Amino acid sequence: MIKEKIQQIAKDIFDDVVANRRHLHSHPELSFHEVETSVFVANKLEELGLEYHKMADTGLVALLKGDKPSDQVVALRADMDALPILEANDVPYKSQNPGVMHACGHDVHTSSLLGVAKILTDLKGEFGGTVKFIFQPAEEKLPGGASLMIQEGVLENPKPQAVIGQHVMPFIDAGKVGFRAGKYMASTDELYVTVRGRGGHGAQPQQNVDPVVITAHIITALQTIVSRSADPKSPSVLSFGKVIANGATNVIPNEVYLEGTFRTMDEKWRSEAHIKIKKMAEGIAESMGGSCEFNIIRGYPFLINEEKLTASTRGHAEDYLGKENVLDLDIWMAAEDFAYYSQVADSCFYRLGTRNESRGITSSVHTPTFDVEESALEQSVGLMAYLAVKQLGN
Ligand SMILES: [Zn+2]
Ligand SMILES: [Zn+2]
Repeated sequence: MIKEKIQQIAKDIFDDVVANRRHLHSHPELSFHEVETSVFVANKLEELGLEYHKMADTGLVALLKGDKPSDQVVALRADMDALPILEANDVPYKSQNPGVMHACGHDVHTSSLLGVAKILTDLKGEFGGTVKFIFQPAEEKLPGGASLMIQEGVLENPKPQAVIGQHVMPFIDAGKVGFRAGKYMASTDELYVTVRGRGGHGAQPQQNVDPVVITAHIITALQTIVSRSADPKSPSVLSFGKVIANGATNVIPNEVYLEGTFRTMDEKWRSEAHIKIKKMAEGIAESMGGSCEFNIIRGYPFLINEEKLTASTRGHAEDYLGKENVLDLDIWMAAEDFAYYSQVADSCFYRLGTRNESRGITSSVHTPTFDVEESALEQSVGLMAYLAVKQLGN
């Protein structure tokens, strides 16, 4: 049985997978600068005898064809970049690149995919179909490595019928995984706003145009885009996390600067909302005698897990890990550039539990104390290898 064989190899290579993860963790590189990481992955692929080619500068794509006849293709994706965070963990594999840290688990994704490549290379005689391994740069930074890899044709020649990706999840115990069919993560757009008025003495508002009051109205009114214009059946979020009005107790400033985020899960509504948001903010500023410059930088699209693929993948996960270890995920309004694959190909993005409360491994991703329970790497490599083989119809 292929499942048992995969489980055995996943056990056998566990120490190597952990060593690779620790190497990557201690040598993190920022988005679009994954130079050493790319060389590391290339060397490992060469050791396995897998042909690869480079894409989007530091990205790599490799193919493995099973010996049995089949024209099915499945793509497996890992991201390789780290974040500009100073690691606070005191561990032997602590970041040796101060100020840069694998705080989103992309070291786990990359070392896992290398492990999957090892398992499937060993079992190549036992399955049919082609596995495409995608190691992409820059998940954490716009425009996103995924969008560049797709532009450069990563989903062509051969074209996969399914794209599968995983992401660590510190809120799920190690040993478990989570799935959600349908819309799962949000589109994310960045908002940069300057509200202009005419500053002056705080005691003489009648002689000024107060951009602080205009901004207060704009922030409040824009919430009606979410509460009155958005379809209540589809989530939207509009948040401003930065508001700078640099006056004083008795000084009305000339302008106020804001930064925020708009997230939703519907491309048509997303575009309509952009127009409404701008129009409302500009209208309010103008009606109060000021002006407003509203810039929206489009980020990643929303992520959708194709229903049928996700149902079958979830079933295979239950088969591999046991029903009790496969959970349902809630919608998550964060963004992920895997969304680009999901917009153009049938895709499934699932979560790998990496939490271990007894060892204090509970920190959220993107924090200086983030770490993973490494025992999860055994399930990580075995499960993904099994999902690929099953998806190929074996
Ligand atoms: Zn991240
Ligand atoms: Zn991530």
